[in-house]
Amino acid sequence: MFEDKILNKKSRTEGLSNGVNIPLLGMGTWGMGGKYKKDPSNIDESVKILRAGLDMGIKLIDVAELYGLGLTEEIVGEAIAGYAREDIFIISKVWKTNLRYDDVLKAMQGSLERLKTDYVDFYLIHWPSEEIPLSETMRAMERLADEGLARDIGVSNFSVELLKEAQSHLKHAKIAANQIEYSLIERSAEKDVIPYCKENGIKVIAYRPLARGNIASSQNKALEALAQKYNKTPAQIALNWITSKEIVAIPKAGSIAHLRENCGALGWKMSEADYIAL
Ligand code: NAP
Repeated sequence: MFEDKILNKKSRTEGLSNGVNIPLLGMGTWGMGGKYKKDPSNIDESVKILRAGLDMGIKLIDVAELYGLGLTEEIVGEAIAGYAREDIFIISKVWKTNLRYDDVLKAMQGSLERLKTDYVDFYLIHWPSEEIPLSETMRAMERLADEGLARDIGVSNFSVELLKEAQSHLKHAKIAANQIEYSLIERSAEKDVIPYCKENGIKVIAYRPLARGNIASSQNKALEALAQKYNKTPAQIALNWITSKEIVAIPKAGSIAHLRENCGALGWKMSEADYIAL
């Protein structure tokens, strides 16, 4: 299948510290099974969408223990059952109230049980804590990496200063990723976080790459003109722009039609001038 080639082969080009590769396009899951509380009303639909995405070749799923208070991880666990685990890249995250040493280990166990897997590919600190010392959290994160429960460890919503501090608390592991908000609309990370990550081999993962859907529905003239020029949709232009920088995009699609559209963001290029103009 065309998408398989694009997503599994071409996009799996960049090695991480453990030699594993991460796809450039993934599936966000915020809202599947609820947001800040459990909502079982869309379980079946969510499992169907995630499986459709896997079948289209989108092998990366982003989730967190916070989402739907664990129900989202259960949905992901159900969706990946029956697929070869090594073909799927799972990111999960520990919430900021669970950053004490023992709590991190416990949170990981809970995530693995709900996901019904032995390991996650990336385990991230979801948000920095102002109360719990980062040194304590990083010690637990490094243990999870050493034990192989997390293939790689990383962070989310970390500034350059915090990235440096987090790395300084690790004995031998390396921070593999920083998941941050990044889209055509939200570009503050371009100032320092993205350049720092690039210089230090930290993978940037863009959340809200469609600005919560606002980009797809925007009537922005420049975006519409490019969409017309390349015979693509505004969402595809926006995702292509992110992935062209070797930044991973994890849009959340609530329908198979949106998934399919997002898949069409990869496998083609705009002119250099158009990327710069954006
Ligand atoms: P997003 O992906 O930018 O936008 C999602 C919205 O875009 C949904 O309303 C969806 O509508 C719409 N959409 C998706 N594809 C579309 C298309 N082709 N055409 C038109 N509309 C489309 O925002 P997000 O869900 O907030 O962020 C993505 C993921 O990042 C989350 O799901 C979550 O996994 C992660 N995240 C992480 C953090 C963090 O702190 N680390 C924070 C926020 C999010 P439909 O549902 O109708 O398809």
